[in-house]
Amino acid sequence: MGSRAAEQRQEARQLAARLSAEGVRNVALTWVDNAGIARVKTVPAERLAAAAERGVGMSPVFDVFTSDDAITASDHLGGPDGDLRLFPDLERVTTLAAQPGWAWAPADRYDQLGLPHPACQRQFARRMTERAAAAGLELRMGFETEWVVTRAPAGHPAATGADEPLDYPCTGPAYGMTRVVELSDYLRDVTEALSVQGIDVLQLHPEYAPGQFEVTTAPGDPVRAADDVVLVRETIRAVSVRHGLRASFAPSVVAGQVGNGCHLHLSLYRDGMSLHRTPDAQWGLAPDASAFLGGILGALPALLALGCPSPASYLRLQPSHWAGVYQCWGVENREAALRLITGAPDDPDGGHAEVKTFDAAANPYLAVGAVIAAGLHGIESATRLPEPQTGDPGVLGVRERARRGIVRLPATLTEAADRLEKSAPLYEAMGEVLHGAVLAVRRAEEAHFAESEDDAIAAATRWRW
Ligand code: GLU
Ligand code: MG
Repeated sequence: MGSRAAEQRQEARQLAARLSAEGVRNVALTWVDNAGIARVKTVPAERLAAAAERGVGMSPVFDVFTSDDAITASDHLGGPDGDLRLFPDLERVTTLAAQPGWAWAPADRYDQLGLPHPACQRQFARRMTERAAAAGLELRMGFETEWVVTRAPAGHPAATGADEPLDYPCTGPAYGMTRVVELSDYLRDVTEALSVQGIDVLQLHPEYAPGQFEVTTAPGDPVRAADDVVLVRETIRAVSVRHGLRASFAPSVVAGQVGNGCHLHLSLYRDGMSLHRTPDAQWGLAPDASAFLGGILGALPALLALGCPSPASYLRLQPSHWAGVYQCWGVENREAALRLITGAPDDPDGGHAEVKTFDAAANPYLAVGAVIAAGLHGIESATRLPEPQTGDPGVLGVRERARRGIVRLPATLTEAADRLEKSAPLYEAMGEVLHGAVLAVRRAEEAHFAESEDDAIAAATRWRW
């Protein structure tokens, strides 16, 4: 034990020395709060080893911060007392390509005695990954990142108001090559920075809304997927700043338009074999994969409180906007909340599923952890996927939807929070302290925006994530 600690100390010192030699001055240690905002403490590179050994102090009050930086309280958290320690994950220390002199590491949170903080979202994600491993399941996950790029306003970069038009640096059509030509230097710098930082980019393309793009990155284990999406977003932000641009990852950049999703892709493996490639099984799905996906589908109303956590999320969640607002699944159906992707038959890793409904206001650690918990509950309760749906449920009449058993997912944050409050499996998985803190933040966000018009909600949240 003692020698392991000494070894770690030695490794941390070597890493700190290497960073300093590379010209890194500061290391940003991030965690993501329950409102989905990446918060940070930074340390000089030469303090990294000390930070890894003793942690960096921070207040537990951040667990009840809301997206407008107000502070609420839960039964267990809130108020000025107490202290936690942030421990950087040295395995993920990354020199930042678009922030010269800076490195980044995601952090876990412990109490003063070195015990895991019960509301640490990253450890929740890890606990759920381990729970799946104990059931013999390995998960590979990845988030898609969508963002809208605008020109940064001259002068003080204050948030643009509800009635202030956004200044787009590209004018080309949705999915159009024109946008790639107009922003070719910027887009090249985004992919270059990601790749230098060890992020494997799969695709980049213009999306539907004005100024909107999407980048997809290679899947990894669940905690890695959540770390990656934080790094991807901060990298896009940093490259944007260097180009005089601003990136919005908000669920609804302009109310009424197609928004930014942050779809979660997942695939299941047992003993290294994909459970999406079972010979003779329908869609190749092994019984456990079907039960796992059935568990996610069943839990979606409660999961929305984690994956779609802002009142702004519900501006995005409109039928026929590719956001997956009905509780149904489909094979390659982009209007189903849960989309099964069968992939090329000769690709052993091609089969996976996508939770379409989630957005980037979600804390990605909570999202992956809760999805795993829901999937495992699906296996424990021998859930089966119902019939898949084809086509857009949004264009069916109310009676046809009812005949097919398709229900709308929560259309408000209040409804989603109510479902999370009542979800026994998610309460059990998250534990009382984390579950209570998330609900307190959701209730505070609802109250804050209760009287706001859609445009005002979009404007107030446009630059928050
Ligand atoms: N922008 C859409 C959303 O809000 C998704 C578009 C797509 O299918 O990639 O989720
Ligand atoms: Mg997309």
